[in-house]
Amino acid sequence: KKVLERDVVVIGAGISGLMTARRLTQAGRSVAVLEARERVGGRTWSDTIDGEFFEIGGQWVSSDQDALKALLRELGKETFQRYREGDSVYISRDGARHTFQGDFPVGESTLAEIDRLVEALDELASQIDAAAPWEHPRAAELDRIQFSSWLHSLSEDEEAIRIVDHYIAAGMLTKHSHTFSVLQAMLMVASAEKFEHLIDEGILLDERVVGGMQSVSEQIAAELGDDVVHLGTPVRRLEWAAGEEGAAADGQPGRVTAHGDRVTVTARFAVVAVPPNLYSAIEYVPALPRPRLVAHQHQSMGLVIKAQAAYPTPFWREDGLSGTGFASHERVCEVYDNTVAGDEHGMIVGFIVGERAEDIWALPEEERRRAVLESFAAYFGEQALEPIAFYLSDWGSEEWTRGAYAASYDLGGLSRWGHLQNEPVGPLFFASSDIQGAGYMHVDGGVRIGTDTAARLDTAFRA
Ligand code: FAD
Repeated sequence: KKVLERDVVVIGAGISGLMTARRLTQAGRSVAVLEARERVGGRTWSDTIDGEFFEIGGQWVSSDQDALKALLRELGKETFQRYREGDSVYISRDGARHTFQGDFPVGESTLAEIDRLVEALDELASQIDAAAPWEHPRAAELDRIQFSSWLHSLSEDEEAIRIVDHYIAAGMLTKHSHTFSVLQAMLMVASAEKFEHLIDEGILLDERVVGGMQSVSEQIAAELGDDVVHLGTPVRRLEWAAGEEGAAADGQPGRVTAHGDRVTVTARFAVVAVPPNLYSAIEYVPALPRPRLVAHQHQSMGLVIKAQAAYPTPFWREDGLSGTGFASHERVCEVYDNTVAGDEHGMIVGFIVGERAEDIWALPEEERRRAVLESFAAYFGEQALEPIAFYLSDWGSEEWTRGAYAASYDLGGLSRWGHLQNEPVGPLFFASSDIQGAGYMHVDGGVRIGTDTAARLDTAFRA
């Protein structure tokens, strides 16, 4: 087993950990990154399955995600635009299929009600600092109210509620809206500045990375080299020096030893760059302070299946369809054209959230496939039943993730423990897209928190 000595040990080679390592090495610090999996990229993962290219994890770049876009330029990565010509599909609660462009094909009064709800959301979100939502004067009160109850207290229009609810609950947190608070929903909105940035697919799902989003992490890791990035090395135990500011008993700055399966690293600081729901999978010696041990039990992953089917051609385009579709009560509640630009074959991606995802996994494989494809057919017709390749992303069974897209607090947790999440414990720092303000739960957030954590460590080294 290798024993290494470094300035900083980073646990996790997702974008947050790799970005921390990139900026630290650029600043002249020595770093080791220990990664549990046999690959880098964490929740970004691009692979060829049955001859087709699949983005299994995070893939889209929003037009307002400046930090990620700057990184893509820095790495010389190319991007392409998502196909978006033509009509979208909306399947209403009665099962009727409508095509539309612009506003949802719902009644005038429902449209007005959606506008009113969005205004209320934006008004409240504008008062929230995404980097510190717990500082809002009414944080505790807003964190006690279920997002679903709040929407129902503002409107009686079930369709308007369902549409607004969908974007935050199914679309982002991938949890049912009775399980998270208004404050948690406001953090989501504030992290993207306003609600429009979460619903306007022109902004949200603007571009993709040529070669796949995982290639961003792969390039960073390749530039860091094998001496820095160690794969297949889950960190089981972190020994850290207790005491004030992490100082050891002899007054020297604290040290930390990360025990990975193949490598042990002793360093001045550690960056725990794993999703918050996995903090407790590591043993800390001594144990973390009591408030952390409690807090870490209140951040959990949402659950969504990213379902994708490839076809000989993007046949829906011939019918004047963009590939975009919504049906909040369908098994697959939203769909998009996921064809790689210039590729002859077409691809549809759809999302199955929460309890519906659990139900889908409970089915035998053939039934599961049929159920998902029938849902695709509800949007695009019978041709959708005959794909040439089909894949369901199963992040819920990945030991080093355990859900998708990201971790969020349960009711009351954000106001009670959020203020601890970015604070170091002695020599231990924490970095994840799931504890970041701007770009929260997105690759952009990982880029930001990695950069920020490296800067904070630089300050700590100089202290
Ligand atoms: P992770 O990527 O989770 O990285 C953490 C790393 O730590 C992993 O590599 C893990 O293996 C490793 N690890 C865990 N425990 C240990 C341990 N004990 N020892 C060593 N290593 C450990 N974002 C977007 O911007 N656009 C999208 O379109 C988008 N779509 C998504 C679709 C899906 C299906 C999913 C799952 C996510 C999506 N996201 C999207 C979110 C985005 O992928 C994440 O926010 C981001 O990749 C998280 O990066 P991270 O480095 O913070 O965490």
